Amino acid sequence: MTLSVLYYGHPILRKKGAPIDAITPEIQKLIEDMRETMYAANGIGLAAQQVGHALQLALIDVREVTDRPSTLTINGKPADVAKFMPLTLINPVITPLNEPEAGPEGCLSFPEVYADITRPESVEVKTQNEKGDQLVFQCGGLLARAIQHEADHLSGILFIDRMSPTKKQELKPELDEIQHRTKAALKKSLKAIR
Ligand code: ZN
Repeated sequence: MTLSVLYYGHPILRKKGAPIDAITPEIQKLIEDMRETMYAANGIGLAAQQVGHALQLALIDVREVTDRPSTLTINGKPADVAKFMPLTLINPVITPLNEPEAGPEGCLSFPEVYADITRPESVEVKTQNEKGDQLVFQCGGLLARAIQHEADHLSGILFIDRMSPTKKQELKPELDEIQHRTKAALKKSLKAIR
């Protein structure tokens, strides 16, 4: 089942995700639905907040993007990125491994908004997967960028928070428009409940 993706202005996008203690059938179903939603929206990542759940859960699949390379190291050895996808991140902890680098980003919660964001080029990731296995790996390039973007969502941080002030100012009309539409839709749905 595909879920509705929530847009900028929805308060849940600012909520820190609660840790997941057990991978219950409900969590498994949410992962399945999020995966379907991410593919339907042509996204390379999706956080639980973006579909209305403030949890430490996000999905990644960078296979569709062929012009921006990713690197992956597991147990000290280079590993195949494609075989590692789709990747489920549960309670992830990210540690930067090198210097920040600027690169283009978009976000499913900000339709048609793109900007260069500066982040460490490679990171170490400690996470659980959907089976509850503990994974530790190092990654670089697009995969590292996507994971950091999603991990930010799990803390209620959005990519606009990491934009340069100049870029954010330049995008202000678009950002205000998305926020305005989201708030108007929320107001309408609240009225419908009453
Ligand atoms: Zn995003």
